[in-house]
Amino acid sequence: MTARTSDIEKAAGVLRAGGLVAFPTETVYGLGANAQDSAAVARVFQVKGRPPSHPLIVHIGGVEHLGDWVEDVPATARLLGERFWPGPLTLVLRRGRRVPLEATGGLETVAVRVPDHPVALALLSAFGGGVAAPSANRFGSVSPTTADHVRAELGDAVDYVLDGGPCEVGVESTIVDATGDVPSVLRPGGVTREDLEAVLGCPLTVPSTSRVRVPGQHPSHYAPRARVVLVEPEKVVAEAELAQELGHRVGVFLPPSLAGAPVKAHAVVAVPASMAAYARGLYGFLRELDQQGCDLIVASLPVEEGLGLAIANRLRRAAGPRPS
Ligand code: AMP
Ligand code: MG
Repeated sequence: MTARTSDIEKAAGVLRAGGLVAFPTETVYGLGANAQDSAAVARVFQVKGRPPSHPLIVHIGGVEHLGDWVEDVPATARLLGERFWPGPLTLVLRRGRRVPLEATGGLETVAVRVPDHPVALALLSAFGGGVAAPSANRFGSVSPTTADHVRAELGDAVDYVLDGGPCEVGVESTIVDATGDVPSVLRPGGVTREDLEAVLGCPLTVPSTSRVRVPGQHPSHYAPRARVVLVEPEKVVAEAELAQELGHRVGVFLPPSLAGAPVKAHAVVAVPASMAAYARGLYGFLRELDQQGCDLIVASLPVEEGLGLAIANRLRRAAGPRPS
């Protein structure tokens, strides 16, 4: 069921009153608050269990509003915004005065994007301001790609959930630091590095997964309950069967190169050959294996080009060391 006009109006009213609204975007569902309301923004952190030093993304209705939220708009940022918005690209720029420090985790930069989803855009237009939102999940866990995921994970802690159906892209936005002369990718996501480079006409640096970019960020993120183990694609079946024999309840991400291969495990997900379909399904697959009671997930990394870069980044983080 997708949101109606009356639902959008209601959600905008909740934002105006300082409440929290979960809303669909093309990437994942967001947990939104009025970006200029420090108390509402503080509640986002509380509901997520997110450290206050971990900044949110301010969602705006169009590139024409960018100047209202940032100190200045460098030519590169304007170019990227005009080319990729609405879309899964977040620009980090110098913080405009109307953005409270609560939304930026105390940083003098702010992350801004225009989401490419009719319900999100209708909400932003009805509300008329900026909506600060991280993904609508508990800190560190798997991002929601359906309204049901949000309800299951956050329940009554959210004042209103707008349903816009399953997310098209399925992984978070690409975050680009556009404060300096040379833009750099802080997090790979829905806009590919190749697409960015084609527009910018220069190569971009992408950080290695282990590098922590933002204070408060933990190596383990995007993680299901089950432990995630990454192996070479050709070793997935042997590794899974060994762990299953050792008494684990193993969930397998069977790579497309092994499609249809028999595997003795608790649950098997056939990984789509198309990277777009894999990205769209990724978080749902992880949730599904948790739901089936798996305690171990054996997976391999896709080739790290195009959307494969974002998928590999999320899988590595899902497999990262957990807080003890
Ligand atoms: P989430 O979608 O839940 O991961 O939250 C928003 C993401 O934006 C987080 O990964 C933040 O680290 C990132 N982010 C937001 N603001 C900034 C900023 N000023 N500099 C770097 N990263 C940011
Ligand atoms: Mg998140």
